[in-house]
Amino acid sequence: MLKVKTPEEVLRLIEKEFRPLGRSENVSLPDALGRVLAEDVRAEEYVPDFDRSTVDGYALHAKDSFGCSEAAPAILDLVGEVKMGESASVAVPRDACVYVPTGGAIPAGCDCAVMIEHTEDYGDGTIGILRPGAPGMNMIFRGDDVRPGRTVLKAGRVLAPQDIGALAAIGRTGVTVRPRLRVGVISTGDELVCADQTPGPGQMRDINGPMLAALLKDFGAESIEIGIVADDEELLRERIAAALHACDAVILSGGSSAGVKDAACRIIEGLGELLLHGIAVKPGKPTILGKAGNKPLIGLPGHPVAAFFAARLFVLPLLARLEGRTLRDFPVRAELSESLSANHGRMQISPCRLEEKDGRLTAEPIRSKSGLITQLAGADGFLLIERDCEGLEKGAEAEVCRL
Ligand code: AMP
Ligand code: MG
Repeated sequence: MLKVKTPEEVLRLIEKEFRPLGRSENVSLPDALGRVLAEDVRAEEYVPDFDRSTVDGYALHAKDSFGCSEAAPAILDLVGEVKMGESASVAVPRDACVYVPTGGAIPAGCDCAVMIEHTEDYGDGTIGILRPGAPGMNMIFRGDDVRPGRTVLKAGRVLAPQDIGALAAIGRTGVTVRPRLRVGVISTGDELVCADQTPGPGQMRDINGPMLAALLKDFGAESIEIGIVADDEELLRERIAAALHACDAVILSGGSSAGVKDAACRIIEGLGELLLHGIAVKPGKPTILGKAGNKPLIGLPGHPVAAFFAARLFVLPLLARLEGRTLRDFPVRAELSESLSANHGRMQISPCRLEEKDGRLTAEPIRSKSGLITQLAGADGFLLIERDCEGLEKGAEAEVCRL
C-alpha cells in the first residue's frame, strides 16, 4: 500500500519521476499563439534601428534651447522636415531645428525633441522654443528596445499576443515550439453513457470525458478521446495499453470504488510502475499516478468535481513538466462573502464565484453537496484551505486561483 501524499509531495514526485520530452517543431508566427516556446529567442537586430522622436515637434541641439522660457523663447531656424518612414538626411546646424513627427527619425547631431505644444511657429522660417530641451528628451535611441544578443523570450513560455508582437519586431517569421502533447482520455463505469444519449434507469451521462478533453484543450494539449470503457479489467487493460502506445500520457477517470480501484492499480502496475495512490486533498483523494517509461498513467476519481480538481492541480503540472513549460498561476486576493468551514486533515478545495462589489473583489463559495457538477458550473475560481486550517471567517482575505 502506498502512503497518501500531500499536494507538495505529489508535485515533487512529478518533478523527480518525469523528465521533459525535449521534442520541438517549427511553426510560423501566425500559428505560434498559445504554443510553448522551445528556444530562448535572441534578437539579431536593433529595435528601433534608428534614433526616434516620441513626440510631434522639433528636433534640435538641446544646448540651443537652454535657459529659454515663454517670456524669452529660443529662436531657431527651421531647416526642414523629417518624413515618416524616411531617413533624416537633413543636416541641422546649431541654432536650427527640423520638424519631426512622432516616431520620425531624429537627424544626426540633434539630441532632443521639443513637443510642438511648447513651441511657436512665427511663420517666417523661424520657430520659437518656449521650454528648454535636455539631451535625450522625448527620444528613443537606436537599440533602446532591443539590442542584438538580448534574450527577448525564454524557452518554456506560452506565447501570448504581446510575445507575437515582440517576435514580429525582431523580424522572426517562425519559432521553435513544443509539439502539443497527445493525451488519451478514458471514462470507466458500467453506468456511463455518452453525453448525446438519454440515460436509462441507473445510468449517467459521461461528464468527465468531455470535461477533461476541454481542460486539456484549454491547456493546449491534444486530447484523444477514447470514450467509455465498462468496468471490465481485461478490456480496460487493453484500452489503456493501446492508448499508451498512441499517446504521451493517459488519463483514466472512475473506477475508484473498492474492487475496481484495485483493478486500476493492478493495471497500472502491470503496464509500468505505480508511483502514487491517494492525495491528501478534498475532493480528489482517490487519485492514482503511475508511469510506463516516461509516460504518465493517471487514474482520477470518478466524481466529476474531484476529477476536475485533481486534473487541474496535478495533471496539468505533470503535463507542463513533460513539455518543459513554465506554469504561471497568479492567484487573486478576494474577500470571502461567507465563512467557510474546513476540518478534514486534508487540503480543502472550495470552488467560488468572483464578484466585484464596491471596488472590492469578493469570493462567494459555491455550496452544494460534494460531488455535484453544479459546484463547478459557473465557478470563476477556487481557493485552497490548508489541512491544518479549521476554516475561514466571512470577510477574510483569501487567495483565489482563477479557472
Ligand atoms: P467510481 O470512481 O467509478 O466509483 O465513481 C464514483 C462516482 O463518480 C460514481 O457516482 C460514478 O457514477 C461517477 N462517475 C464516474 N465516472 C464518471 C464520468 N465519467 N462522468 C460522470 N460521473 C462519473
Ligand atoms: Mg465506477
